[in-house]
Amino acid sequence: MHEWSLAEAVLKSSIKEAKKRSLKKLLEVKIVLGDLQGIEEEIVKFGLESLKKGTMAEEADFIFTKEDAAFQCRNCQYAWNLKDMNLNNETIRESIHFVPEVVHSFIRCPACGSPDFEVIKGRGIYIEEITGEDEE
Ligand SMILES: [Zn+2]
Repeated sequence: MHEWSLAEAVLKSSIKEAKKRSLKKLLEVKIVLGDLQGIEEEIVKFGLESLKKGTMAEEADFIFTKEDAAFQCRNCQYAWNLKDMNLNNETIRESIHFVPEVVHSFIRCPACGSPDFEVIKGRGIYIEEITGEDEE
C-alpha cells in the first residue's frame, strides 16, 4: 500500500515542521501532488484521516493541489507542459498517469523532436504550507 506509507510520511513531516515552528496544534496542511505520481489522492486522504487521530494534527485539514507535469528537452532546452500537448488519446494519458516511466515512449520534444528530455515538474509529492496554533 504505497498510498498509506505516503500518508504516514506526509503526517510525520507536517508534525516535524509544526514542532520546529513551536506549534501546539496543526490546523491545515497544503500538499502538492504531482500529476505523474500515479497516486490515488482519495486513499492518501483517507490514510491521513485515520492516522492523524491522537496526534497534534487531529483537527487538521489536509488540502491537496495537483501539480501539472512539465518537461524540459536536454537537446534544445525547450520546456513544456503535459497539458499543452493535446494528447487526444485517452489511453496514452492514462498510461502516463499510472506508469510515469512510459512517458518517454509517448512524448517527444515539441520543438526539436528529441526523445531526450527530463521531467522537471509533476513527479513528487511535497508539503507546500502548514498552518497551526501555538499556545491557546
Ligand atoms: Zn528539443
